[in-house]
Parts: sequence; C-alpha cells; structure tokens
Amino acid sequence: MTAFPNLFRPLRLGSLTLRNRVVMGSMHTNLEEAPDGFLRLAAFYAERARHGVALIVTGGIAPNAEGGVFAQAAKLTDADEVDAHRQVVEAVHAEGARICLQILHAGRYAYAPTLVAPSAIAAPINRFTPRALTSAEVEQQIADFVRCARLAQDAGYDGVEVMGSEGYLINQFLCARTNQRDDEWGGDAVRRRRFAVEVVRGIRRACGEDFAILFRLSMIDLVEEGSTQEEIVALACEVESAGADALDCGIGWHEARVPTIVTSVPRAAFVTVSAAVRQAIAIPTIATNRINMPHVAERVLAEGHADLVSLARPFLADAAWVTKAAAEDVASINTCIACNQACLDQTFQGKLTSCLVNPRACHETELTLTPSEAPKRIAVVGAGPAGLAAAVGCAERGHRVTLFERHASIGGQFQLAWRIPGKEEFGETLRYFSHQLTRLGVELRLNTDADVQTLLDFDDVVLATGVTPRRIAFEGNERACVIDYPTAIRHPERVGRRVAIIGAGGIGFDVAELLAHVEIPQGEVAAFEPASADATPQAVEQWHDEWGVDLASRHPGGLKPRVAPQAARRITLLQRKRDKPGAGLGATTGWVHRASLRARGVETLAGCAYRRLDDDGLHLSVDGEARVLAVDTVVICAGQESQRERLADLARAGVRAHCIGGADVAAELDARRAIDQGTRLAARL
Ligand code: NAP
Ligand code: SF4
Repeated sequence: MTAFPNLFRPLRLGSLTLRNRVVMGSMHTNLEEAPDGFLRLAAFYAERARHGVALIVTGGIAPNAEGGVFAQAAKLTDADEVDAHRQVVEAVHAEGARICLQILHAGRYAYAPTLVAPSAIAAPINRFTPRALTSAEVEQQIADFVRCARLAQDAGYDGVEVMGSEGYLINQFLCARTNQRDDEWGGDAVRRRRFAVEVVRGIRRACGEDFAILFRLSMIDLVEEGSTQEEIVALACEVESAGADALDCGIGWHEARVPTIVTSVPRAAFVTVSAAVRQAIAIPTIATNRINMPHVAERVLAEGHADLVSLARPFLADAAWVTKAAAEDVASINTCIACNQACLDQTFQGKLTSCLVNPRACHETELTLTPSEAPKRIAVVGAGPAGLAAAVGCAERGHRVTLFERHASIGGQFQLAWRIPGKEEFGETLRYFSHQLTRLGVELRLNTDADVQTLLDFDDVVLATGVTPRRIAFEGNERACVIDYPTAIRHPERVGRRVAIIGAGGIGFDVAELLAHVEIPQGEVAAFEPASADATPQAVEQWHDEWGVDLASRHPGGLKPRVAPQAARRITLLQRKRDKPGAGLGATTGWVHRASLRARGVETLAGCAYRRLDDDGLHLSVDGEARVLAVDTVVICAGQESQRERLADLARAGVRAHCIGGADVAAELDARRAIDQGTRLAARL
C-alpha cells in the first residue's frame, strides 16, 4: 500500500493513457526564444519526463505574431518551425511521458503595439491599448489557433492545451469587462463564449479524435465584471461538447489584485473552486495553484476535487518530484517555496527562468554536478543558503565535506525567513538541505567557529560566513528599546505595541508583517512559534475573507467584500529614499506585501532623516518636516554588512579559500544569488 494511491493511478485522458495523475503545468522559461533554446528545452523537459511526470504542458506558444506575450515571443505558425518542436517532443516521448503544446494568445496582454482584443480596452497592467478585431478578423484568429494545433500535431505533440484563462484573449472574449462587442462574438454570455467554443471545435475537427485537447478554463476570474459560476459551468459544458478532453483549472486574471500563487497563498487554497463544474461534466479536471508536496496533491485527489494535479514551479525546484513521491522519499524533495524570485520575476525581466532552490533548472545542459575525478577534502564555513548549496553540491560530486556552523542550527537568514507569517515554506528548504547533508554524509559541526588552524587541514575552504545586520548611528540608539531585526524576528513577543521600523527593504516589510500578525502576549511571555506550511482550514478561510475571494463565484469574478484583518501593533515603516516604500521588492510579490501591510494599517514614510530617540519617541524629519513618533520599540532593518574577516587570515596562511553569498557581497544579498553561487562553485571544485 503506497502513501499516495490516488497520485499513482493511471488515467485515460481522451485517447491518451497517462501513467499517473501528475501534470507538469505550463511555464514560459524564455528558453523558447533563446539561441539553442529548443535543444535546452528538450533537456529540461526530458529530465522531468525521466523522473516520471505523466504529462507535460509546454510554455505558451502564440498562434500568430500579434498573439505573442511580447514582440518576438515564440509562435508556431508555419511548417519551418515544426522541427524545433519535434526535438522537444521526441526527447519527452523517449522518457515515456506525454506532451501537449499550450497555445496562448495574449490578446490585450501582449506587450507590443500590434496587440488585438475583442474591444479596444487597455489592460491595467499594459501600457499598450489593443485594437478591436473586426468580425472577419475574429474568424481568422480562430483559424490561427487551428493551424497552430495542426502544426503541433505534425511536430508529434500528443495534444494541445488551449489557454482560455488568466485573462488572455479567450478570457477577454468571455467577460463583459473586456468584451463590449455587439456582434455575434459579444453581447450576452452565450455569444461571448462562442470564440472559446469555436476554437475547440475547430481544433477537434482539424486534428481528429486521436489528439488530446485540454482547455484551461478560468474557474474564478478574481476581477470585477468577470464570469459568474453559472457562466463558468455553461462554458465548461459547451467546451466539453465541442471536443475538449480535460479542463485545466485556471485561477485569476493576471491583472487581479488577489494573489494566487505567491508563498503567502495557502497550499491548495483554490482546489474546491471547480466543484460545480465537476458535477456538470464527464471529462477530467486538473487542479492547480500552490500544490507543491505529494501529501497535498494526494489529498486534492482523495477528496475528489480533481482527477489530476498540475504542478509547475515545483518541477523547477525538483525535477525528480514524481520519482521521490513514488518512493515515498518525501524528505528529499526540494520544495518550491513559491518565492517567484528566480522564476517569474526573472521571466518578466526577459531573463532565463530558473529556480532559487535549484539553480540547475533551465540550465541542465551547462550546470552539472558530475562526479569529481580527484575527490578533495573541502571545508565549508557557514550553513546559510550559500554554504548549504556549496556543501551539498560538493558532496554530490564525491568530495569529502565538513560543514562548520557557528550557531546551533543550519539555515542562516532562512532561519529568520521561515518565521515570517506567509513564508513558512522557507522551512521546507531547511528540511531539504538537512536531509541532503545526512544522505550525502557531510560532516556537520554545529556550534563551531572554525579557526584558521582547523581549516589548514583542507584542500579548499568555502567561506560562506554571511552577514551581520548594519548598525546605524543616531542619538539614543543605545536604548534597550532599539533592537535589530534578528532579535525582533526571533522574539516578536518582546516588541511593544507602537513600533518604528527603520529600513523598508525586504526585511523591513517582513518584520512589519510579523509584528502586525503576532499578538502581544498577556501575562506570562510565551516564545513565538512559527506556523506550519500546511495551513488549517480556518486559516485558509480567513485568507479568502481577507482577500475577498468567493470560490463559488456567486458574484461576477468571484469577488466578495474584504474583511479587514486585525493588526497586533501600530507600525510605522520608514526609509530615507523618496521612492515608494517596497519599490525594490519582487515584481510579482511586492504588491502583495504592500497590500497586506496596508490592510493591517501599517503606515509607510519615505524621505525620512532620523534625528534622535528620547522619552518622547523617535524624532525624525519627513521630507524636511519635523515629526515625533511615539514608539515603544525601534527595529533596525537597515541592510547588512559582509562577514568575511577570516578571508585575509586564510590567504596569509596559504589556504585556497572561496568567498560566496552574503560574505562575498552583502548589498542586495539574496538567497537566489547565494544558492546559485554555492552550486556553481561546487560544480567547479
Ligand atoms: P535592503 O533591501 O537593502 O533594505 C535595506 C533598507 O535599509 C532600505 O530600506 C534602506 O533604505 C535602509 N538603509 C540602508 N542603509 C541605511 C542606513 N545607513 N541608515 C538607515 N537606513 C538604511 O535590505 P534588506 O531589507 O535587509 O533585505 C536584504 C535582501 O533580502 C534584499 O536583497 C531583499 O531583496 C531580500 N529580501 C527580500 C524579501 C522580499 O522580497 N519579500 C524579503 C526579505 C529579504 P534607505 O536607504 O532609503 O533608508
Ligand atoms: Fe518555486 Fe521560488 Fe523556485 Fe520559483 S524560484 S520555482 S517560486 S522555489
């Protein structure tokens, strides 16, 4: 009896038999447009296929030039482009998996001046206004979808996924928000649905029965004037009748102001959304969004929320997710922590997608940890993300590794990160590394400050000693009520009711989030306990209330009035720069942090100069105007400084030392760079 019986049951999907219930969901990696990109894509997908994923859905490919997400985005419009796809398909088939091409027409989300849409209404997230299609052009768009599917069939794909959600073109036809036409493609809901249905019907007619058609249907739009549940169910039925073999559950438009995939979204928070649709159709549905661990996936299937689960970013984090789940070796899964830092944030900047916890993702052909021909004795000093990545990478290659850590536990800055409400997933990375250290036989010496004498015994020393919080000078900063961020994060119970946070970078925001959440203890002071990454049903419900999500879409778009969360403290977040506080946070996550703090009444002040702290409070000037904040506690979150004093001593002693992570560069210290640097160093040593 396996722990995941539902996950590993085969399934018939149209004419395909899938070996299990795990789909690798669509992700644009930017390899699609890179030189040699399809060769690298083939390696990327093949590695996931080799490890047992049943069905892969490719990143979105445009059916015509105007449908690309950006100018020059990958498209499939003529026979010349088929060969590139064929090498991807053959690589995946050779490993026993199935693969469908996702056809994505961006409509008004296309970031190029040639964009088209049902109506000339600009998206709030795009500076370009679309041109409204004529009736004849609408027919042509459908023909382009069909041509793309035919070419995909020529390339050997097992089927296509028609992208009908997330606010792209098909979704734009479906909703009154973006479709104000009065011809046969707009007006009432039946005519707004016609475009979606005709696309599916056309593909089925052109490609025959022996070709899978998945339709990604927006189960909840999360925007005003979105679909109602009645309309969503009607669409699902019509798409099924037109020939779709499965429905992939899309959640929210890109312009929605409700987070749908970031780490603070509870695991599997949306899986009940398709309940009404499932009662009305016979074809399988695929659950999506924040399903990152096998027990979560199994529960989704066991509770009957879907027939398959789709995981996208978790396959960046760990190519062997399925094999490890099948072997019930869950502790060795490198969990996607939903940070978006190396995937979506990079993708949107036009850089290659990768993964913070797995820098090999999308770099399979150039970053390999092959066995070393001359194993060495390697010391790694510091068990933060950089040191952990280096230690595990070196051990993977067969080196004998000793990892020294000054503190009683591994993790460095991650020991702080996972204590922040909504970032509990970061604890999974610590579990993963801890497991890898044991599996690979790394000698871990905790509570040990390795001195130069000790390090002389090694062939190479990796210095990953991290950072210290920056101290800042102002009169009164020696008072006991001034604390640094590690203290505030470890002991929020010591922080008073009125708080000033100096420094509004990522950590200032995190500290504000924590202090707004954690109640001030009454009576005896209990130590703060971080929550589990598996939220309770009550916490999930509270999250839906806070963001105004009605999974039953009783109102258009599935939005309901938000319930303002209670804040545990009165918090003011300060910075010297005049920019909007939080401007430097990730593109896909910063707005969520800002909205969360706004909802908790956190005041942000830019243009501050800190004068002094006395019994009246913190004296500062804000844009030149004097102000006093009456506060009980001041938390300093003013960045960090590198901790690498030992480097010079090691050099003097003739030790070959390599400095990585925050010890190397503290400015804009981030875990993505740290883990990448540690892994790449391990590949070289
Ligand atoms: P940071 O992003 O560099 O922010 C440091 C803050 O301190 C800034 O607001 C800066 O603003 C202020 N500051 C710097 N020097 C100061 C001084 N001498 N006196 C007073 N204020 C000073 O650093 P962090 O917040 O420590 O974050 C570290 C890294 O972790 C960053 O790369 C961040 O991206 C990452 N991180 C990200 C997240 C997230 O995205 N949610 C969360 C945690 C950490 P002014 O100079 O304008 O005052
Ligand atoms: Fe997941 Fe973060 Fe990796 Fe993206 S970068 S796949 S969100 S862990």
